[in-house]
Amino acid sequence: MLRSLVVLFLLWIKVKGLDYVIVHQRWIFVCLFLLPLSVIFDVYYYARAWLIFKMCSAPKLHDQRVRDIQRQVRDWRKQGAKTYMCTGRPGWLTVSLRVGKYKKTHKNIMINMMDILEVDTKRQVVRVEPLANMGQVTALLNSIGWTLPVLPELDDLTVGGLVMGTGIESSSHIYGLFQHICVAYELVLADGSLVRCTEEENSDLFHAVPWSCGTLGFLVAAEIKIVPAKPWVKLHYEPVRGLENICKRFTEASANKRNTFVEGLQYSLDRAVIMTGTMTDHAEPDKINKIGLHFKPWFFKHVEGYLKRDCTGVEYIPLRHYYHRHTRSIFWELQDIIPFGNNPVFRWLFGWMVPPKISLLKLTQGETIRRLYEQHHVVQDMLVPMKHLQDAITRFHKDIEVYPLWLCPFLLPPGRGMVHPKGQEEELYVDIGAYGEPKVKHFEAKASTRQLEKFVRDVHGFQMLYADVYMEREEFWEMFDGQLYHKLRDELGCKEAFPEVYDKICKSARH
Ligand SMILES: Cc1cc2nc3c(=O)[nH]c(=O)nc-3n(C[C@H](O)[C@H](O)[C@H](O)COP(=O)(O)OP(=O)(O)OC[C@H]3O[C@@H](n4cnc5c(N)ncnc54)[C@H](O)[C@@H]3O)c2cc1C
Repeated sequence: MLRSLVVLFLLWIKVKGLDYVIVHQRWIFVCLFLLPLSVIFDVYYYARAWLIFKMCSAPKLHDQRVRDIQRQVRDWRKQGAKTYMCTGRPGWLTVSLRVGKYKKTHKNIMINMMDILEVDTKRQVVRVEPLANMGQVTALLNSIGWTLPVLPELDDLTVGGLVMGTGIESSSHIYGLFQHICVAYELVLADGSLVRCTEEENSDLFHAVPWSCGTLGFLVAAEIKIVPAKPWVKLHYEPVRGLENICKRFTEASANKRNTFVEGLQYSLDRAVIMTGTMTDHAEPDKINKIGLHFKPWFFKHVEGYLKRDCTGVEYIPLRHYYHRHTRSIFWELQDIIPFGNNPVFRWLFGWMVPPKISLLKLTQGETIRRLYEQHHVVQDMLVPMKHLQDAITRFHKDIEVYPLWLCPFLLPPGRGMVHPKGQEEELYVDIGAYGEPKVKHFEAKASTRQLEKFVRDVHGFQMLYADVYMEREEFWEMFDGQLYHKLRDELGCKEAFPEVYDKICKSARH
């Protein structure tokens, strides 16, 4: 009996192909091992963060930890500064799907800083360490009636990654990117000194840090604006048909400052749902939907329901559930890993364990899955001026055809750093996020992404740097403004201490 089962199993693998089985049956390993492990990880980290904050030990320990980082940098110097430095956080722990090769060759500086240091409600600022993550920050701030004006959705995104990379949320059409709600950075520089930079103090450095990916210094703390929070988000769902109509409605909603939140989910070239929301103190009881409860449908599936039923709707969602609405299904990535994850039976029984930690998925993916993902999977966020939205969606459709597309508007103020609009006026942009399996037959990871990158450069847009970047160096510096960045690298002695940002994030620097 067992033997015939094994034979049948092997036959099935032969028919389907080993690659297919490894990718499509990954859920067995994920459900049996990664989900329970993820729960243990989460409980440990939340309990630790809560205890440390309650005992008020975080600020005292912080100074010690900064001194330790300064000592590591000075030791690196004494030992002859032979290689570049990078943060010692293992590549598999980050949210980005890639693991940098440089971690193996550079001097790893251990930055073990994951605490919320201080909430100053008078100045309306929270001071945090770089490894504090969004789940931790909302859990604390929301419980005392405050929130970050821009709160990127996934629990595991860290302050360091969002400052040095970038971060965005459906409130960014008012407040800008994550960097625009930061008022101060504290950094350990290549010579081991500690500096604080703000709009007034060391202002060049303040503007150059965002998007520099740790190539100007090590972030050891950030001060971020906070705003009062209300318990509910009143969310309005509007299904829209026709590409032109979608772009028009989305642009109008994004320009309307009375909407605290604006987001679009596009399910095909001509079908989307546009959501607009405001924070409120009270909810109509019959319209409450606690979407974050473990047995609730995945958010993007719930939203699709409005399109299928072709009706608008209004719901009241608890604020924290709203913020982390895409966490449980990792936007829509989890459907490729656990195909039955949105089935009601699975949700009721195991939904509380979901999602598996991205870091554990990366750690255990193995070379075959990594290679297949790279060839048959797209994870890209392209930031383009809103006026080019229609062309951009058409381009995405021709080059990759991945749905749903995430549409998130944001305001880009003029500036001197790597990312700012072409003119001196602030401009409305949109982040187009494509996560999933491309449906176009001619998809080829490098060629198709390069085509998209060219389009984005041509319209003066930007590519998020966590994703696979296939641009050549000249193309990269055509997209990003390197003037201030290069000037500071010279002045602060970064050239011997850190790689250039292009060398750190480009394809050849990674697996
Ligand atoms: C599946 C997925 C979902 C995503 N969802 C969202 C989303 O909802 N909203 C959003 O805004 N973005 C999202 N992103 C993109 C995300 O903003 C970036 O990956 C971001 O850089 C944060 O990732 P991280 O915290 O893992 O940082 P990391 O990848 O750890 O860091 C990013 C860069 O910053 C550097 N860095 C980090 N800490 C320090 C430090 N202390 N000192 C010096 N340098 C440092 C690192 O070396 C690295 O180069 C998503 C990405 C993926 C892959």
